[in-house]
Amino acid sequence: MDNQLIADLLFPEVSLTPAELENKYPERLLPEGAKVTRFSPSPTGFLHLGAMYQAMINERLAHQSGGLFYLRIEDTDAKRKVEGAEESLIRILNEYQIYFDEGVTVNGEKGDYGPYTQTKRKDIYHVYAKELVKKGLAYPCFDAHEEESSQSRMQTIDWEQEQQRKKQQKIKWRSITMEDIQQKVKEKQPFVLRIRSADSNEQTVIVNDLLKGKLEFPENDEDFVLLKSDGIPTYHFAHAVDDHLMRTTHVIRGEEWLSSLPKHVMLFQYLNFKMPKYLHTAQLLRLDENGNKKKLSKRDMGANMEDYKRLGYAPDCVLEYLMTILNSNYEEWHSQHSGKTYLDFPFSMKKMNTSGALFDMNKLQDVSKNVLSKMTAEQVFDLASEWAHLFDPSFYTLLKSDPDYAIRILSIGRGGKKPRKDFATFVELKNFISFFYDELFQIEDAYPVSFDPSVIQEVLTRYLQNYQEDDDQNVWFEKMKQIADSLGFASDMKAYKTSPDLYKGSIADISMFIRVAVTGRMNSPDLFEVIRILGPERMKNRILAMTKRLTKGE
Ligand code: GLU
Repeated sequence: MDNQLIADLLFPEVSLTPAELENKYPERLLPEGAKVTRFSPSPTGFLHLGAMYQAMINERLAHQSGGLFYLRIEDTDAKRKVEGAEESLIRILNEYQIYFDEGVTVNGEKGDYGPYTQTKRKDIYHVYAKELVKKGLAYPCFDAHEEESSQSRMQTIDWEQEQQRKKQQKIKWRSITMEDIQQKVKEKQPFVLRIRSADSNEQTVIVNDLLKGKLEFPENDEDFVLLKSDGIPTYHFAHAVDDHLMRTTHVIRGEEWLSSLPKHVMLFQYLNFKMPKYLHTAQLLRLDENGNKKKLSKRDMGANMEDYKRLGYAPDCVLEYLMTILNSNYEEWHSQHSGKTYLDFPFSMKKMNTSGALFDMNKLQDVSKNVLSKMTAEQVFDLASEWAHLFDPSFYTLLKSDPDYAIRILSIGRGGKKPRKDFATFVELKNFISFFYDELFQIEDAYPVSFDPSVIQEVLTRYLQNYQEDDDQNVWFEKMKQIADSLGFASDMKAYKTSPDLYKGSIADISMFIRVAVTGRMNSPDLFEVIRILGPERMKNRILAMTKRLTKGE
């Protein structure tokens, strides 16, 4: 059989050679040990937390080694392509400040190893497809039915039957005659291009995965599809060609690709490409209601990166959380290196979880509170405003109506050694600071029924009478104590604890009366500070409103 002739018949338009492509995309000039990695999502839906997890590993390994990280869009599956998914992927990656040196960007592509979108690389794939045909390592199969992936067929068809069918197909199409090919090409019959695999799978293929260690597989004996009938490659073929020509040194991807490794090994051999190093990450897991580990599936809360945005998690918090589940020693390191970020951390493949990191919303909550507590009030203000702009316009208007006021509110308990950790998300932040705004203020907690409303009213009235704006905290508190003493409440907590029956209550209750009137809540940050920020006008109005409510018996 004249393979050159078949190659010319099938790919008459291809004039470039692999050698020319090798020259066009030369080895990258990088320092010894520098890693070239990529993130290569398919625009088939939303960005999954697991994908973000992989993006971070890729980014860290590249940049930490003085290498390079690029973004490739794998859009070969037209059926699964979702309108707008590509743009939203790129936008989220930008929001998370995942920095790419090359590849697809919002403003087109950058870098010398493109195009970085697979559907724009058809010509390149065809050069190698032609080469494989020329070497007798690939052949056409003129059967439209073959288009369907065997996986989708497997769902409906018996496995044994499927194997049998594949064997017959292999025999039939491998032995197609030159005349048949000529005839079918002339009739413009569509074909898929198949690899000519091993005749049996008795040989063993060994791959050293950087996470899973040494893996052994039977050699690939499936004549899998390289090009579909529209000339677009399958994932396998595109992976080999792209990662070779873009000079990827480390392929980091999900473990769902492990079973395809023998196919990839065969392709790299057939194409004479140097194998990249592989790291297959385990799936993210979650605990179900019964405490069993389950795969974090698409429908689970937290799987979609957009969830975090909507719920009001700052990207820095999610990234910080991901790093804690990526490297088991990260939290300890960070506690010893305050002021540093995950970008300063020596990320290590060896410290990765081999069996699947556990996703835990409560942990994210803790990490997030911690990260926000360490930001400046101005940073929190900017992030909260950005979030509110998109998801809570009326809150946005309030924040922006007086930025200084908002920043003073957000400064409460910030900056010291032990900053307050009141909120993990901007939704919680709004809830936490809402009482500072008359538009959102409401009485949320009632006074305990054990206190006589007229006594509470008396406390509030006296408080207002005695209040002086320029009193410092000590003078202010002394005045509260006087009110306590004069109305039969203990101003001294010790005395109260020894003989509670002698008093109507304590100084703590006096504070609580004022706190509920002013904040609407039993719990709030330091009352003196809250009142200072609210200002005398708001404070007075609220106390007067409360005395009125008490009079009306509300
Ligand atoms: N496009 C593939 C996916 O989304 C990428 C796999 C890879 O990184 O090679 O699963």
